[in-house]
Amino acid sequence: MLMGRNPDTATTTHPALVYAVSKLASQAGGKVVIGDSPGGPYTRAMLERGYRLCGFTDAAKSCGATLNIDTTAKIISFPQGNICKAFNLITPWHETDCYISLCKCKTHAMTGFTGAVKNNFGLIPGLEKPGFHMRYPDVEEFSTMLVDLCRCASPDFTIMDAVVGMEGDGPSGGSPRQIGLTIASDNPFALDAIAVKAIGFTSDEAWTLKKSLEMGACPAETQTVGDDVIFPVVENFKRAKSHDVTPTRGLPGFIRKPIDRIAQPHPVVMQDKCVGCGECAMSCPAKTIKIIDGKANIDRTKCIRCFCCQEMCRPKAIKIKTLRLFSL
Ligand code: SF4
Ligand code: SF4
Repeated sequence: MLMGRNPDTATTTHPALVYAVSKLASQAGGKVVIGDSPGGPYTRAMLERGYRLCGFTDAAKSCGATLNIDTTAKIISFPQGNICKAFNLITPWHETDCYISLCKCKTHAMTGFTGAVKNNFGLIPGLEKPGFHMRYPDVEEFSTMLVDLCRCASPDFTIMDAVVGMEGDGPSGGSPRQIGLTIASDNPFALDAIAVKAIGFTSDEAWTLKKSLEMGACPAETQTVGDDVIFPVVENFKRAKSHDVTPTRGLPGFIRKPIDRIAQPHPVVMQDKCVGCGECAMSCPAKTIKIIDGKANIDRTKCIRCFCCQEMCRPKAIKIKTLRLFSL
């Protein structure tokens, strides 16, 4: 539940999947609690709004599940983390004895792809998320942290809604695209490997998969059982604009980072679409967005290109701009 939004936009996991899984878990004797921490303030009011807009309130009502409204969190130590040794995770995760993660198959402006691994970022309380972007501003470090987080959160089972995914400028500014798959695994890293293959991306285009392979979290070989699938399942799945241009991909970090600072895509506010709500400014880890005369303004010199602003902008008023030289 990235944000409260109509499920038809393919921004969030479809409530039909939430309902079906909750019902089955309930029938198996479980006491089901549906929870998440979307972007923005982690408050009861924001949670209830998000659940309602995403269709989770109705889904929970229909199957007798409870919606989490506890907004506390606790720190769990993870000494084996590669880059991050502790995480502050929302309370329902600490209290459950079976954690089922329901994710969506989407492109992502920063990490290229978001699915099973990145879904666990929803366990971090809302406004603590930008802090991770400041601690790990480079996509490689940020993705390593996400792999650590997924290993720490260790979902018992993950199910991906790839019936209709999001292509283009995901995770919120893209367009719905029919894929027609539901993918499930007890290994979230392997699940992402299959999903990435299904949409015709390479592992280099999905940073969390690339890092999980390098770190040995994802098996080098994955296979599917169930329906026969011919890969890729969809052709020409649109990449996020930020990933159309990757002149430095594959270069070592010490060469790539300084070039990226100048050449890589950056967010631009379309003033005619901006409604001045300030959600981008609230989510900007670098605090480089100001609302002036009812419109958002970005000071690009401090921008770390995490694209949280674009992610949180409901009217899709933030586009990703690329230097002309690198878009040829
Ligand atoms: S750019 Fe988007 S999120 Fe930011 S103030 Fe404008 S409408 Fe709101
Ligand atoms: S302006 Fe946008 S992309 Fe830049 S640091 Fe802030 S949230 Fe991230």
